[in-house]
Amino acid sequence: MGRWIWAVAVAMMIGDGGVSMAGSPYAVMDELTLGRVEIEDGFWSPRREQLRAVVLPTQWENLEANHHVDNFRVQAGVKPGVQLGPVYIDSDLYKWIEAASYVAGKHPDDEWLRGRLDEITGLIEKSQAPDGYLDTYYQAFAPDRRFRLLWNDHELYCAGHFFEAACASDEATGDQRLMTVARRYADLLTATFGPGMNEGVPGHEEAELALVRMYRRTGEPRCLGLADFFIHQRGQDPHYHRDILRTIRERAELTLLVAERRRQVLGDGPAAKTVSGLPAVAWFFSPGVFKSVFSGRYYQADRPLLGSTAAVGHSVRAMYLYTGAADLYLETGEKPLLDTLDTVWTNTISRRTYVTGGMGSRGAIEGFGRDYELPHRSYAETCAAIGSFFFNWRMLRATGEARFAEQMERTLYNAVLPGIGLDGRSYFYVNTLAAHGRTERQPWFGCACCPPNLARLFGSLERYLYARDASGIWVHQYVGGTAQFDGPFGRMKLEMKSAFPWEGRAEITVREAPAGTVAARLRIPAWSERSEVKVNGAAVSAPAAGSYLTIARQWRSGDVVALDFAASPRLILGSPQVSADRGRAAIAYGPLIYCVESVDNPGVDVHSATIAAQAPLRAERRPDLLGGIDVIKTATVNGRELTAVPYYAWANRGVSDMEVWLKVR
Ligand SMILES: [Zn+2]
Repeated sequence: MGRWIWAVAVAMMIGDGGVSMAGSPYAVMDELTLGRVEIEDGFWSPRREQLRAVVLPTQWENLEANHHVDNFRVQAGVKPGVQLGPVYIDSDLYKWIEAASYVAGKHPDDEWLRGRLDEITGLIEKSQAPDGYLDTYYQAFAPDRRFRLLWNDHELYCAGHFFEAACASDEATGDQRLMTVARRYADLLTATFGPGMNEGVPGHEEAELALVRMYRRTGEPRCLGLADFFIHQRGQDPHYHRDILRTIRERAELTLLVAERRRQVLGDGPAAKTVSGLPAVAWFFSPGVFKSVFSGRYYQADRPLLGSTAAVGHSVRAMYLYTGAADLYLETGEKPLLDTLDTVWTNTISRRTYVTGGMGSRGAIEGFGRDYELPHRSYAETCAAIGSFFFNWRMLRATGEARFAEQMERTLYNAVLPGIGLDGRSYFYVNTLAAHGRTERQPWFGCACCPPNLARLFGSLERYLYARDASGIWVHQYVGGTAQFDGPFGRMKLEMKSAFPWEGRAEITVREAPAGTVAARLRIPAWSERSEVKVNGAAVSAPAAGSYLTIARQWRSGDVVALDFAASPRLILGSPQVSADRGRAAIAYGPLIYCVESVDNPGVDVHSATIAAQAPLRAERRPDLLGGIDVIKTATVNGRELTAVPYYAWANRGVSDMEVWLKVR
């Protein structure tokens, strides 16, 4: 696509109303479009530049090396070969497209990025089947079996990620080509699924939230209707057990068929190793999985969502389901849905979530265990944390309650960010809270869901910082930069300077203000020990930590709001209900959770090192260490010095022992 088209697209984006095309009628607040927010921040700007310069290019190399892109070249008929990789392989590329679109929207001059997006967009256009279907695995091997193995075969999961990529491309770059493909695919889905038609539901949720996103982007009510069907149909199938047994039998047949087809093309060479498939069937019967799958819990299909009380089963699936359900509420106002989600949230956060915000403690099912089952060799998949971040954003928009923004902050810094190394080219899929050596980030994974998921969240971070409503503006996260709000109150622009996460100081300068009164709602973080807020030097009384302060006034350009949230390093004592946490404590400082690594503490066994409950904790600025951090210094009861680093920064200096929860007495 020529540069001028991009320029026109960006101009169109800036010229829009500043919120989603279809404002969600039941949202307390509207999100700002990405073009309305710029990030200029000491902590986040280097990471965002790294996203453009390192993360996206190296992820592309891995997508090329692992056949993600070639599958589309083969399907499009521009390269000979055979489809390779797992059944969900397309989704990883779609997430990369979503991330790359956000970044390309901010950097229309990045020729490399534009070239990749252009190429893959063309390949996707050519790959789509005449009736709108799109899935390289099924198109290659089993076009007659599509939408039959929904529980595990990820067709609708891939479709969902494709829809999100298309919406992102449309929103961020103005390029409509993927949206045209997506509309045709959505038409096929809405003509295929529903009462009296195929009454199956996505085995891995994602299509639900993506269909709501498509609805918001296109105004097509059938997309919303299908999301509604998928969410309410889940857990209703009286023949679930028959269906899961059929799934296993047909999966085995298809696996053999795919293996044979790949062997015909590749022979028995090394490439044919990707033919593995029998493990996919054996998995159903493996220890720790069997019960979860056959009960339906693994898929959140053991009962309808309405009336559920806590997150169960595969944690990414669960978070995407709740995200989609919250999205549905924002459009339909179905109150019982919001009440259920609130109950699920409360129980899940208080009993099934790590201190970092990480979720999913059982590795076998990549999912939730019982209440308080939170061992320190945690699974806590990076994608589950990202899903939780998305879910909390919808709940925040539905309610305006600060607890959801708090959870987003906690999760972002302590459960999402640890998923990527400081080098921008290594990743954790599993995020343990205790390491006995051996644990290192990897450049890529056979199941590559997490790396591009991180990229798309970091690429769209603008979306989650602010919001607006009829009477004014919301500031949820203190990340430096600028924001422009256009509402019934007129236009307001502000500039944010922030010392987060190291210090709880931020300064907001009004750069443009309308004539009338505008309410500014500012989050007072839950960890703030003493909150001082001043408008043009005059103190404003701040409400309790963990809520929003509202300042309604006639703002003028040049007004300054200074926020100072005092924080000192603190110990979070382990809950007696969590057996792994008993007699242990985690160090926290502001929004950050800390850990102790052996590399900083030679001669100390970090697993048995014991600190006093009243041990003094001292923050020390270390601009030279790990990209610039504050370490926390304390001492063991034996008088040995201990140095703790932010958990997000661990495992960047070779293999180390590590503990988040220190012994305490
Ligand atoms: Zn993942």
